[in-house]
Amino acid sequence: MTMPHSGDVISYIEMCLEEGTSLQRGMNYRLATGRSVILMSLRKGAPYADRVEDQGRTLIYEGHDVPKFGGVVNPKLLDQELQNLGGSLTQNGLFSAAAAEFKLGLRESEIVRVYEKIRDGVWVFNGEFELVDAWGESDGNRRVFKFKLHLTEDVETTLAVSQIHHEHTRLIPSTVKQEVWKRDKGRCVICGSTKNLHFDHDIPFSKGGTSLTANNIRILCVNCNLAKSDKIE
Ligand SMILES: [Zn+2]
Repeated sequence: MTMPHSGDVISYIEMCLEEGTSLQRGMNYRLATGRSVILMSLRKGAPYADRVEDQGRTLIYEGHDVPKFGGVVNPKLLDQELQNLGGSLTQNGLFSAAAAEFKLGLRESEIVRVYEKIRDGVWVFNGEFELVDAWGESDGNRRVFKFKLHLTEDVETTLAVSQIHHEHTRLIPSTVKQEVWKRDKGRCVICGSTKNLHFDHDIPFSKGGTSLTANNIRILCVNCNLAKSDKIE
């Protein structure tokens, strides 16, 4: 499998194959592949705690709750933690440490792949991000951790012209993806295919398009996407 591009729709199985493991939790610092992976998904009955800033360049991701065992009934009522009871770092702790060391100039930024669940079995690759900051804050009721991630530049390979051009990618906010998926019924808007789909920017960023509204985003399959690239070139 070639590395997915930002905006590619994939199945849960494909995502796990890509990352070489059965992904279960939201935050995964350095999997067996050496890569760090974050999963975004709509939490039951709650609005997204994650948000998109900076015209789609920046993702603010909320950390994970304490696990639901050992007498913990509702993790949403408890502070998020950097350490487990035994003193080892939680995933919040591991990502926070990486961000802190980066800010001190002790290391390069951690590269994090971000996937987002659109609905059961349907995921979108949001791209590769640099972890640049982490902090704790109150959400009004408890302490939560926030992680600031900058989208790295995607290198799109346009097969038709066999040349590589750099596209400044932008993250499509969750609510926009949900709206577009529903509107386009999970199919390519041109040929109706349900395979190899991609959230496509009708007008690219480089030509003034935005990722922040559904009317500039549509679902295309890989073939229709390539045909479109052909015309633009
Ligand atoms: Zn198509």
